[in-house]
Amino acid sequence: MTDSQRGGGTSLSFEVFPANTQVGTKKLIQTLNELQDLQPHFISVTCSNNKANIEETTVKIADYVTNTLRIPTIAHLPAAYLSKQQVSTILGQLEKLGIRHVLALRGDIVEGIPPKRDFSYASDLVTFIQEQAPYFDISGACYPEIHPDSDNRISDIKHLRKKVEAGCSQLITQLFFDNEQFYQFKEGCSLAEIDAPILAGIMPIINRKQALRLIKVSSSQLPKKFLAILEKYEHNPVALRDAGLAYAIDQIVDLVTQGVAGIHLYTMNQSDTARQIHQATKSLFQTTERLGV
Ligand code: FAD
Repeated sequence: MTDSQRGGGTSLSFEVFPANTQVGTKKLIQTLNELQDLQPHFISVTCSNNKANIEETTVKIADYVTNTLRIPTIAHLPAAYLSKQQVSTILGQLEKLGIRHVLALRGDIVEGIPPKRDFSYASDLVTFIQEQAPYFDISGACYPEIHPDSDNRISDIKHLRKKVEAGCSQLITQLFFDNEQFYQFKEGCSLAEIDAPILAGIMPIINRKQALRLIKVSSSQLPKKFLAILEKYEHNPVALRDAGLAYAIDQIVDLVTQGVAGIHLYTMNQSDTARQIHQATKSLFQTTERLGV
């Protein structure tokens, strides 16, 4: 049985990130207002790994999504640089606002800045939340093409299983451009008896800057078909955008057809991209079932 058959439909959700400037925040609010019409199952709000004022960034945006837009929200929580006390405070702030779903993350370890010792891995955070605030729903991150710190797929999946057993109700993947990598990963999870629903993270590549950055830093496999688009339309912004959107839509159609539990769209804070993808694929998604706010 596929994930979508088991869960009664495929979900569509969005990721946004808090902006660094006032102008960026104003634009993000506008984006969020526009995303509301698309009735996502939830919107997740990222959180910088190494910033002190989570209350002013992630918590504030999550509050807006939950309490102004009335859309279920997942607040990302990378904990490598937080103490248990700090995590308790953030959970308390979220709970007060009616936000009871977090994406429990370790976060990247920044070179030259030693992490705190309270949460060595995301599974430590999941266990802590289960003990301290068991009414929180917890999602976890996963990596179809293996987390870069991992030596091999087997150990990565073994650690993932531990994280799910600690209390994750669902997993969200790192972005990927080759669906075959996702299907192989899913098979590995099934063999390891990881049965949490896995939402596929999809990022439409719609401009040259984004494409070049991706080629430079990405640890994901970039299929020939995808690289050909980047090469051919590198200097034609309109065509690159059209082809990038079409590529993402093609990935989504294939994933949904093969029974993926959900699509989590990395929106890059652009509502028009999300809208165009939604317009092209909306009949594939179940829009009524939402996570409880
Ligand atoms: P973990 O699950 O702890 O895994 C990290 C590594 O440790 C893996 O290689 C794993 O195999 C290994 N490992 C796990 N447990 C053990 C163990 N017991 N013993 C030995 N090794 C172990 N980062 C941010 O800073 N902010 C965000 O908002 C954010 N959002 C994200 C959203 C998604 C959907 C994804 C996929 C990633 C996101 N990240 C974010 C990036 C993430 O923080 C980094 O990839 C980070 O390096 C790993 O975090 P994790 O929670 O996956 O770590």
